[in-house]
Amino acid sequence: MTTEKKALDLTCALIGFNTINPPGKERSCVEYLGGLLEAAGFHLRYDEFAPERTSVVARKGGSVDKPPLCFAGHVDTVPLGATPWTIDPFKAEMSGKKLYGRGSSDMKSGVAAFVVAATELADRLEGTAGLTLVIVGGEETGCEGSFHLAGLPEFLGKAGAILVAEPTSNRPLVGHKGSLWLRAMTRGVTAHGSMPERGVNAIYKAVEAITKLRNFDFDFPSHPHLGNPTLNVGTISGGININNVPDETSIGIDIRTIPGQDHTALIDRMGKYLGEEVELSRVLDVNGLWTEPTDPWVQEVFETMTGILGCRPDVATVPYFTDAAALTPAYGGVPTVIQGPGEAAMAHQTDEYCYVDCINQAVEAYIEIARKWCRL
Ligand SMILES: [Zn+2]
Repeated sequence: MTTEKKALDLTCALIGFNTINPPGKERSCVEYLGGLLEAAGFHLRYDEFAPERTSVVARKGGSVDKPPLCFAGHVDTVPLGATPWTIDPFKAEMSGKKLYGRGSSDMKSGVAAFVVAATELADRLEGTAGLTLVIVGGEETGCEGSFHLAGLPEFLGKAGAILVAEPTSNRPLVGHKGSLWLRAMTRGVTAHGSMPERGVNAIYKAVEAITKLRNFDFDFPSHPHLGNPTLNVGTISGGININNVPDETSIGIDIRTIPGQDHTALIDRMGKYLGEEVELSRVLDVNGLWTEPTDPWVQEVFETMTGILGCRPDVATVPYFTDAAALTPAYGGVPTVIQGPGEAAMAHQTDEYCYVDCINQAVEAYIEIARKWCRL
């Protein structure tokens, strides 16, 4: 079977597993991939981070003078959404050059491409720096699988660089912002709406807090490629009846940070700025990512991709967060590139698709990148 056929067949097989998160239930999909890697001689460690929710770390090769190259990806997908699909999201239907299905772009094609690339090279990896494949669940709801693995260094082993196969149309990208979602609560004392002087209105406190949030100064230098941190108040809820003084209000705050910005220190500073009437708690906390494009390995990847894409890639970043937020610090801040065959614009969309040509191009790219790393 050709490499192209293997990669397409594997992408289709992965789309066939319903791994919508929540609830995820990635175990059978991950075990299926584990079976292929084990047959190719990879050493596996499964991490069940919740019932029926599994990640796997697969390793082959390894030498004393250079750590392995890590390929990383997730197999969970987002829900189908309210709009009906015109095709079966789990059937992996082809139409022209497109392959349809939930997860086709984000990011079962990416996982399939690096698993095929790794199995193609498997027989030659002994005695080289080797490869480590990290395939996780739970990414879509805040990188649960990879954060769990980050606490298990003996599972992860070592890596000298990471390639995350998230959808980028095979362009190598070098960073993303962090996401810090907070809940801000204000509390009051309820009373009948006809006697507001007997109560304390939690919504009035929330209004003050929101006005302050609009003027919050991050006091953090602008990043040449990621810009400035941002803040958006996305939700507000409070009050039960129109004729009651509300005693509780909840505000949802979406902050996007710059790599290097300390989230705990930021929450601390925001808490002091908003004052004692506002309680802040974390809803989601994922750090940003940045690798200097001048890094020698990044330059090597750019060189490889110039040959494959036909033009030199620009220095650019992705708008979404990735598992690298957990894995890159766990591997000691190694250089990290985000590069996968899916279409970023198709991620999380109704009638999601990817291009079959891009899957083939990704396999070619991963083999070349791995070959150079392992000096094959
Ligand atoms: Zn993804």
